[in-house]
Amino acid sequence: MTEDIKEDAVLSSGAAYYGIGVGQGAVCARLSFWEASTSPEKTVKREVGTPTEEWNTLQEAMRTAISQLGQIEARVRASLGEEEASIFGIHAMLLEDEDLLEACQAQIARGEDAKHALLTATEQMCRTLGGLEDDYLRARVADLRDVCGRVERILDGEDTQPIFSGDERVILVASDLSPSQSATLDRSRVAGFVTFAGSPNSHTAILARAMGIPALVGVGQIPTAYGGEFAILDARAGSLRISPSEEEQRSFEEAQKSTLQEERRKRDVMKRLLSTPAVTGSGHRILIYANIGEALEAEAACSEGADGVGLLRSEFLYLRKADYPTEEELFEGYAEIARRLKGKRTVIRTLDAGADKQIPYLGLEREENPALGVRGIRVCLARRELFQTQLCAILRASAYGQVCLMLPMVVSVDEVRQARSLLLECMRELDGRGQAYDKNIEFGIMIETPAAAIMSEELAREVDFFSVGTNDLLQYTLAADRQNPTLAPLLARNQEPILRLIEYSAAAIHRTGGWIGICGELAADPSLTQRFADMHIDELSVSVPQLLAVRDQVLRCK
Ligand code: PEP
Ligand code: MG
Repeated sequence: MTEDIKEDAVLSSGAAYYGIGVGQGAVCARLSFWEASTSPEKTVKREVGTPTEEWNTLQEAMRTAISQLGQIEARVRASLGEEEASIFGIHAMLLEDEDLLEACQAQIARGEDAKHALLTATEQMCRTLGGLEDDYLRARVADLRDVCGRVERILDGEDTQPIFSGDERVILVASDLSPSQSATLDRSRVAGFVTFAGSPNSHTAILARAMGIPALVGVGQIPTAYGGEFAILDARAGSLRISPSEEEQRSFEEAQKSTLQEERRKRDVMKRLLSTPAVTGSGHRILIYANIGEALEAEAACSEGADGVGLLRSEFLYLRKADYPTEEELFEGYAEIARRLKGKRTVIRTLDAGADKQIPYLGLEREENPALGVRGIRVCLARRELFQTQLCAILRASAYGQVCLMLPMVVSVDEVRQARSLLLECMRELDGRGQAYDKNIEFGIMIETPAAAIMSEELAREVDFFSVGTNDLLQYTLAADRQNPTLAPLLARNQEPILRLIEYSAAAIHRTGGWIGICGELAADPSLTQRFADMHIDELSVSVPQLLAVRDQVLRCK
């Protein structure tokens, strides 16, 4: 798939916006703004009132926030379940906390307006909670900041309505979607995404590909005053046309009809390949695996002929929880996926938290350069209990299928050895409990850093397999933030350095008899398939809607 990168992604006229088109196809639907996507025009400059008026204003904003949280809780409960919904109930309760209310009242009595009283009181409470011994209470700091941010936005007059009002599917517009927003999103209601920020490797783009819907990222600001209009979102053209004329809508629908017919025809042809092994003309077999985030996608991956799962992004289970998941909860989630894969290889990546994947209850320190900070395996080695809970769960799931585990963000042999020794401790623990697991579970690592690629020969002696995370490998090799839309053209045009790193790693790994796959977004790029085949890459792992096209592409290779 070729992404349309427009360097001059600017507003061209009143109703047309341009950005980086990702995902598939085009759609015409109503726009719906995500609550955090605010615009300066909506921000109300309030006159500061008397202390009584400020107190009433603050209470009113808190009531609005509580009502919004109730609506979100109900929606998440219906789509994802009770446990996932519970965080919104906790957030609502935080706004009724006596200590918080008293602290706000005291600040207002000292002459502060509603918003500043809230900010000061929140910071005071966060300092107190952050200094406590109790892990649970310490973890509430991020929740408190999150929920008070909601009240603050209401006080600023920004649009904080829950996104879905009617029943129709909408084009969701947001400043950006954080991984936790993506994790709790009711996907059945989203026909397309538009985000002001983001780039082809950002989470929104990855989500759009996984859902097989069109998206536009890095668009810049769209005034929220537009909410509710019909719009045509075209991923291929990288455009969003708001309030198209009847004529435009008609011609879009006609064009769409023939595009869909053509796509259906191509799909019918490709469906014949469902169980055809992806072997190149020169006889090299490449396994076609799926990248997934949850059990539902495991089912879809199997129907699309996946040979296995090359990347289970295990952070999604954590992101949907209000607090640390238990070993039992993790085990059930993984075992369910392993069962659905019916014996096919299932690679579970251990928790990749930190940087752009913040999980509030982990209470990670704020960092100046989070992408270069404590993330991935660094978090897990620093939080052994958290890591070992997950390792025990993965091990237990390995009794239900061909489960493998894979470490993210590795830079050294030492990290791998530390992780392996923790894994061995977990095995002893399970032996003690008399619980079953695969004693020969495959143990792999991701190549997401230039260090891992350069050290691949040494690392190959320590592990059973590798998978290249091209999204991060590009970011770290080019020293260019994968989330920054301004740098998207730079990242798109400079793939050669990482292709050479992959080439180098593949040769080193194969020399030692090892195995290397690719699970970053470049794995699905048809212009690179031949190059990967020439490197004798063993596996390509891509989002579910891309599985058949990649299989087809490999079969066309020399
Ligand atoms: C990658 O970095 O390429 C990758 C697959 O991991 P993620 O996108 O989850 O960071
Ligand atoms: Mg990564």
